[in-house]
Amino acid sequence: MNLHSGIQKIKKAFQVSADVPMKQYTRFKVGGPADLLAVPENRQELLAILTAAKDTSVPVTIVGGGSNLLVSDQGIRGLVIVTTHLASGIRSEKGPDETILVCADAGERLSAVCRYTKNCGLTGLEFCAGIPGTIGGAVMMNAGTASQGICNKIQYLDILDLDTLAVKTIKKQNLIFTYRRLELDNHLILGTSLALKAGDPKTVQQRFAANMKRKQTTQPMHLPSAGCFFKNPDQKYSAGKLIQDAGLKGACCGDARVSEIHANYIVNCGNATCEEILALKKRIQKAVFDRYGIMLETEVKMTGNGGKTDE
Ligand SMILES: Cc1cc2nc3c(=O)[nH]c(=O)nc-3n(C[C@H](O)[C@H](O)[C@H](O)COP(=O)(O)OP(=O)(O)OC[C@H]3O[C@@H](n4cnc5c(N)ncnc54)[C@H](O)[C@@H]3O)c2cc1C
Repeated sequence: MNLHSGIQKIKKAFQVSADVPMKQYTRFKVGGPADLLAVPENRQELLAILTAAKDTSVPVTIVGGGSNLLVSDQGIRGLVIVTTHLASGIRSEKGPDETILVCADAGERLSAVCRYTKNCGLTGLEFCAGIPGTIGGAVMMNAGTASQGICNKIQYLDILDLDTLAVKTIKKQNLIFTYRRLELDNHLILGTSLALKAGDPKTVQQRFAANMKRKQTTQPMHLPSAGCFFKNPDQKYSAGKLIQDAGLKGACCGDARVSEIHANYIVNCGNATCEEILALKKRIQKAVFDRYGIMLETEVKMTGNGGKTDE
């Protein structure tokens, strides 16, 4: 079946929106239209629409909170699944080695999971203070700080194979995490389980507050962006410092600008396009390469028509 016929079939059978501007679903506020967009309310709805997409060969793109995404101005062909309503509450249970497992569906906000642990006096997630997006996206991106990632807290994941649509549980020892990445292509994370420890509630709250304050004073949290744009090349060099020393703070391409507060943030100062952001990205890469011989790789995920940023 061709793409157009597949799209028409899904449109007739499901509650989906057509030609949805992806700038409404990304923190960057950038991106052209998705052919179809669905926000399933539960796993049954999710499975039904994914089965239809599989039967009609309509390509599927997964979006969580859209806080690490740069979507092309041409948009996304096929079906976009937004996971944010796959959130049936956060719960905890006793885990191994005196841990407490905090379990949440993938669409739960990371901030809600952090709030839950703070309210329960559980320690281990304080480094996630202020990171936007869903818990599923955080696991997929191995979100964290320069010194730690969420991978260290994972106990197991419930995942859905997007080829076979089989659901399975996979334990931490069978997951491969690298810098800002879980090696798990063509799967959708359905549920997460994090192993945390009981802590002193006051200390936990203070750590969350301190980390949040640091983030708010050192990063441009008030402007649309996708967080740090480039990966740090290694422990010795931070991408932000290299960009700053290359004299690029405040550099612009249209409405895309290198933040004055943190040089590894490209911010959208108005109506930036993906093309402008990619032009600025190239300019940064060239300047840093010419000066230091280091080619910066993107941390932000590019999706939609127009290729991948990490190539
Ligand atoms: C202001 C700001 C500050 C930030 N600070 C930090 C920080 O301190 N540390 C940090 O690590 N990041 C940071 N980020 C980046 C971003 O918040 C994280 O990467 C976040 O964890 C992404 O989650 P998300 O739900 O928004 O994922 P999305 O941006 O929606 O998706 C990211 C990737 O994960 C995939 N994905 C999402 N959900 C699922 C799922 N359920 N199953 C399978 N694949 C999925 C998507 O297909 C995509 O490839 C920041 C971003 C902003 C805008």
